Amino acid sequence: MIIEIKDLRFKELISAATIAEKVKEMGAAIQDDYGGKKPLMIGVLNGAFVFAADLMRACAPMPCEITFTKLSSYKGTESTGTLESVIGLDFEIEGRHIILLEDIVDTGFTLSTYISQLRFFNPASIAIAALLVKPDALNFPLDIKYRCFDIPKAFVVGYGLDYDGEGRQFDSIYQLYEG
Ligand code: 5GP
Repeated sequence: MIIEIKDLRFKELISAATIAEKVKEMGAAIQDDYGGKKPLMIGVLNGAFVFAADLMRACAPMPCEITFTKLSSYKGTESTGTLESVIGLDFEIEGRHIILLEDIVDTGFTLSTYISQLRFFNPASIAIAALLVKPDALNFPLDIKYRCFDIPKAFVVGYGLDYDGEGRQFDSIYQLYEG
């Protein structure tokens, strides 16, 4: 199926049913690993809000909490760049088992920088749960404990991911189509 968003066309890459299945599997794996630890999930806005809602429900009945942060990255000519929390955290991090929920890991800059900032607050552990990973684009050291899908280095939208603010509402994932 092809969809149009603004000036671009996108073709279905991963169906809603396949996403639902993988998110359920991830929830089961998290329950196995975190039973009794009451992890604190941190969803990275804006893109992760749909994934976060589904993954948290896939973790029921395990006790867990969720909060959100909004990060703004600026990558200059230097490889390190800078990362700023536009919306900060309203939870105590010290001693908590943190699971970072990210829609897509591209170069890995956002999460690797954010994790080094979080470590400053002495969490008990930090793990990453990513919906999508572009392994060919990864350029920063990241241990991605949970991932639903590895995808090619293409631009994708849907299931929370946007193109210029639009396209988040689709329940499948679509890849830029230039055919
Ligand atoms: P990284 O810091 O890993 O290079 O980039 C991560 C962020 O870039 C994601 O949270 C997302 O906001 C954005 N991003 C990377 N690839 C894509 C993509 O294919 N589609 C969309 N919509 N956003 C992307």
